[in-house]
Amino acid sequence: MYSYISHLECSVCEKEFPHDQISSISECCAKVLFARYDLQKLKKEVDKNVYASRESNMWRFSELLPVTDPANVVTLGEGGTPLLRTTDLGKKLNLNNLYIKDEGLNPTGTFKARGIGAAVSKANELGVKGFTMPSAGNAAGAVAAYAARSGHPVKVYMPQDAPSANKKESLLTGAELNLVDGLISDAGRISSQVAKEENLFDLSTLKEPYRAEGKKTMALELAQQLGWKIPDVIVYPTGGGTGIIGMHKGFNELLELGWVTGKQPRFIAVQAEGCQPIVKAFNEGADSSEMWTNAATVADGLRVPGPFADYVILKILRETGGTALSVTDKEMVDAMYEISSDEGVVICPEGAATLVGLRQLLDKGLVSQDETVILLNTGSAYKYLELVSEK
Ligand SMILES: *Cc1c(COP(=O)(O)O)cnc(C)c1O
Ligand SMILES: [Zn+2]
Repeated sequence: MYSYISHLECSVCEKEFPHDQISSISECCAKVLFARYDLQKLKKEVDKNVYASRESNMWRFSELLPVTDPANVVTLGEGGTPLLRTTDLGKKLNLNNLYIKDEGLNPTGTFKARGIGAAVSKANELGVKGFTMPSAGNAAGAVAAYAARSGHPVKVYMPQDAPSANKKESLLTGAELNLVDGLISDAGRISSQVAKEENLFDLSTLKEPYRAEGKKTMALELAQQLGWKIPDVIVYPTGGGTGIIGMHKGFNELLELGWVTGKQPRFIAVQAEGCQPIVKAFNEGADSSEMWTNAATVADGLRVPGPFADYVILKILRETGGTALSVTDKEMVDAMYEISSDEGVVICPEGAATLVGLRQLLDKGLVSQDETVILLNTGSAYKYLELVSEK
């Protein structure tokens, strides 16, 4: 069987919904919906060792992805990114097992390709005819590319000061680009309104169930790349939180399948000083976050003042023994240079923020020398060349 998806489930009350019709948030609680799979059946029918022989992209894990007919998959080869053991950085920080998962090698240069690839493919399977997308930047570029690939139109809504690369890649791939005088949250409101009016499908973060499924494949790849082991710590630059939520879900499914043993990694959410709603809520012991006012950072992927799935992110950080940390823009840009020059990975500011976060963890004694630590590099420096000086 290509996919073992069985249904959708409300993240709050666990009410079940069918997966074979177009869905956004749960009707019962107006919260995040998660895709569920028949893991008992999968466990009986598939051996995890088949994955090594399949093509190296995220669709190698089709059994744990939502598309039921391979003919509906819209792909640009997303996923299958390298897990690089660090050389200089590991030595410098006295860590024996420090890795970078380099998502900068994805189509359109960021890991947004995974989530959007999954969501556009499932929407394609369900007969959606066109999309809207609010984005701080990189998601718009990815949607524009996948919409082009699927042959469907897309209208993207971006803050006016979104990076030039994101505007240009949207135009290049034929999206209708709308610049919004405001933040991602304002873009989100307009996007959902236009979707309603024009019968298009709104692909906002976690307001549809499948972007998290695409990002989940990072966990499946990490486990496979580590020899079917779960890492100890994942340091993740957190905006809307799809990556943390997806990876946590992926590790849970692997644990339930018995394909890995042990426990979830400690998830560390790193945010920008100028937009840190999750850090504030975590430190205050709150279950949800407050809208961050005047959100500002050069790391556009982290400029999400009111993450819709805040309650899921906070729960994961607490349950796994993780934490939430903030870093300054200057620290991020300095770390871009440090990682790029130490390791040769041309890293985006969001990815670079993980190194700054890791140093804070080490200062507090929260990571030990032999633990397996993953810095999740979510994108390429090529999308942020304006942050790199020519001298
Ligand atoms: C979107 C984005 C993030 C944040 O990802 P979430 O999963 O929404 O938290 C981080 N880095 C980059 C480069 C991004 O584009
Ligand atoms: Zn519910």
